[in-house]
Amino acid sequence: MFDGPKHPTRVKRCALGAMLIVFMAAFLLHCGHTEETAVFTQAPLPYAEDALTPTISAMTLRFHYGKHHAGYVADANARIRARRLSATTPEQVIAETAGRPEYRALFNSAAQAWNHDFFWKCLKPGGGQPPTGLLADKIDNAFGSYSQFRSAFIQAGTTVFGSGWIWLVADGATLRIVNTANADTPLAHGLTPLFVVDVWEHAYYLDYQNRRDEFVKSIFDHLADWKFAATQLTPAATNKK
Ligand code: MN
Repeated sequence: MFDGPKHPTRVKRCALGAMLIVFMAAFLLHCGHTEETAVFTQAPLPYAEDALTPTISAMTLRFHYGKHHAGYVADANARIRARRLSATTPEQVIAETAGRPEYRALFNSAAQAWNHDFFWKCLKPGGGQPPTGLLADKIDNAFGSYSQFRSAFIQAGTTVFGSGWIWLVADGATLRIVNTANADTPLAHGLTPLFVVDVWEHAYYLDYQNRRDEFVKSIFDHLADWKFAATQLTPAATNKK
């Protein structure tokens, strides 16, 4: 005696089970596809979580990257899907939504996702060596000297009101220090970002409490990666008058 033909319902159950597995596989593949085509992705940090101590503690970096930055990336992607935007790159999303009140929430998350990705690239363990070459020349031209540039940048970080970012940007052929409030980004103003420090409280409060100037100074002297900043001096930014 064998069981098969005696239990046709078992065969049906098997067939249903197989179909269910096929549907689940298709669903998971679809999810994977959606994830692949998300406009914003969070690149892994280019260093270990504890590599920036003592300027930035491992705990600050864990929350900053893993909660704040990750949250902006997820929110930007969710809002892009809901709006069915045609933009396919982070920069296009920022350009399409900047200054448009109906897209304010999407712009905020998109710009924050971009700003944070850029911020991590501006830092490296053992950084802080003054720039060389073309970037050094441009800093001397714009600010007088590296030392004067350093003072002006730290002063800007100390005096900015509320949440925001302090940037070194290329504005045509010259360099400027600008601060942007909240999520705003130089990309939305035709400027080329070269270097940034996040001065939102979540960037430093666990480690420095109210001493924001010490945080900016420590980044400048121990983590700033001016070689990365120099790579952002595009030919367009270099040649424009
Ligand atoms: Mn931040």
